[in-house]
Amino acid sequence: MATLRTTRPRDSQRSRAYEWENSVFAGPAQLAPGQLRALLARVWKFAGLPAASCPELVLSRSYGTSKAFGAYKISLARWGRSRWVLLHEAAHCIVAARQIAPVEPHGPEWLSVYIRLLERFGQTGYTGLRTSAKSWGLRVASAEVAERQFLRRPSRKPKPPRAPALRALSKEVAGQ
Ligand SMILES: [Zn+2]
Repeated sequence: MATLRTTRPRDSQRSRAYEWENSVFAGPAQLAPGQLRALLARVWKFAGLPAASCPELVLSRSYGTSKAFGAYKISLARWGRSRWVLLHEAAHCIVAARQIAPVEPHGPEWLSVYIRLLERFGQTGYTGLRTSAKSWGLRVASAEVAERQFLRRPSRKPKPPRAPALRALSKEVAGQ
């Protein structure tokens, strides 16, 4: 339907995003159901989203697809019970929870959020993922977009000097 097409953004970099993932995360280790649920809860908290709205996690017995349903549910296929697949789907849910207007499912915003989650929760301390994704021709939104718009992390501006020290200093200056 034409009306559907205008409201749903195309998903132009999906297959390339999948190829990049497969190149970066070979041989994913499977996590136990309890580990997957605990990880999802930590990710949701990291994104500043209320625990009550944490997506339902369904561990499917099928070998089909792993999938996120809006911001409310993640279904993992048998092969998809790994850290990086969970983070991939959690990034979809976070984007769905925070997007102002529909964005491309595997577009720059999603990829930036996903990479931020991998940097934070990736088991082996993934580094250089942004550079790697870009070298594959993928479009990645800035880390700041991921943090401020979707993860709602406070900005990394340096904190002002602590108040007591500042006050003491200004007294000294005033006394001179
Ligand atoms: Zn996806």
